[in-house]
Amino acid sequence: MEQHIKNLDASYGAQNYHPLPVVLNKGQGVWLWDVNGKKYLDMMSAYSAVSHGHCHPELIAVMHAQSQKLSMCSRAFYSDTMPIFLEKLCTLLEYDRALLMNTGAEAVETAIKAARRWGYAHKGIADNKAEIIVFGNNFHGRTVGIVSFSSEQDYRHHFGPYLPGFHIAPFGDLEAVEKLINKNTCAVLVEPIQGEAGIVLPPSGWLKKLEQLCRAENVLLICDEIQSGIGRTGAWLACSHEDVKPDGVILGKALGGGLYPVSALVGRAALMDVFNPGSHGSTFGGNPLACAIAFKALEIMDRDNYLQNSAALGEYFLSGIKTIGSSAVREVRGKGLWIGVDLDPNMKNGRRTCEILMERGILSKETHETVVRFAPPLIITKAEIDYALVIIEDVLKA
Ligand SMILES: *Cc1c(COP(=O)(O)O)cnc(C)c1O
Repeated sequence: MEQHIKNLDASYGAQNYHPLPVVLNKGQGVWLWDVNGKKYLDMMSAYSAVSHGHCHPELIAVMHAQSQKLSMCSRAFYSDTMPIFLEKLCTLLEYDRALLMNTGAEAVETAIKAARRWGYAHKGIADNKAEIIVFGNNFHGRTVGIVSFSSEQDYRHHFGPYLPGFHIAPFGDLEAVEKLINKNTCAVLVEPIQGEAGIVLPPSGWLKKLEQLCRAENVLLICDEIQSGIGRTGAWLACSHEDVKPDGVILGKALGGGLYPVSALVGRAALMDVFNPGSHGSTFGGNPLACAIAFKALEIMDRDNYLQNSAALGEYFLSGIKTIGSSAVREVRGKGLWIGVDLDPNMKNGRRTCEILMERGILSKETHETVVRFAPPLIITKAEIDYALVIIEDVLKA
């Protein structure tokens, strides 16, 4: 069975991923099972999409009920679900408006379009001259537009010609941003904590200074919180730890409760009001099924104190990993239940470490060869973290 599935994947799938050699067929809460019945603790949460845990019964119930009522009607008509969800999202995050898409990359593209239009309409930038500043080692998705401003060769190679109008500054470097800003700069696009780069936190205070610089220069600050947002770091938005309020915030992943792709650009009215009928859209974006699930996902997260759990257990987990003390570890860093263990770069053994963790019943995935991430569903308990810490200690020391 297991080998058969892997063979089918090798024969019929484009090989754009390199998965760990495990075939899963069941998930419940923080646990996953493979086709042989072996149980694993999920420390990956589908790149932080499954914050509610697998198959949350209330989300399943809403999905079931809404799909039997109305799943899809397109934006050609109003639905009675989308405006209600928009109100909840904007109220919780304290923003004026939101625009719904499906995947993270689409919401990033939406933000780029909004920022450019804002630049032409409000800043008087000459047509086709708008520039956006981004950062080295960024990850914003996989569209041609987005990979055009990636600094990662793997993501870009032979996908050109690339989209112009982007400049890359080193992450955490304020002076570099200052130098790049000019009269054509409409926005700075940044991850408050870089996820795929290896859970990299900028120097403390940097994001605040970046916000002040943007305000002073009449440049929009847009934060990609697709991975860092919606509770992952112990707050609705990672920006709020630094007391930063961007003009626009991009959300995805956990927004759909780990069940359904839902993404959004939320922002101040001045940014969101650049769109008029016909200027942007998505067939499935904001569909009734998506909105019903995402509404419930936010309600559950708020009601069941996921943010508090992420903050408290994240700190506990981080200090637990930090005390392990292994010569294989260069640095341990993170915020909330989002932790990166940076391994000795000479060994390049992130993949091997994940394979051994897998054998021991913990699933994660390395990023950039040397960083192993630990990002469990936000419903994890202290006892489950203690269980994981024993195994992680064994593996890191071996
Ligand atoms: C995952 C991710 C994206 C892309 O989201 P998709 O749903 O895969 O398109 C964009 N930005 C960040 C920060 C992400 O982590």
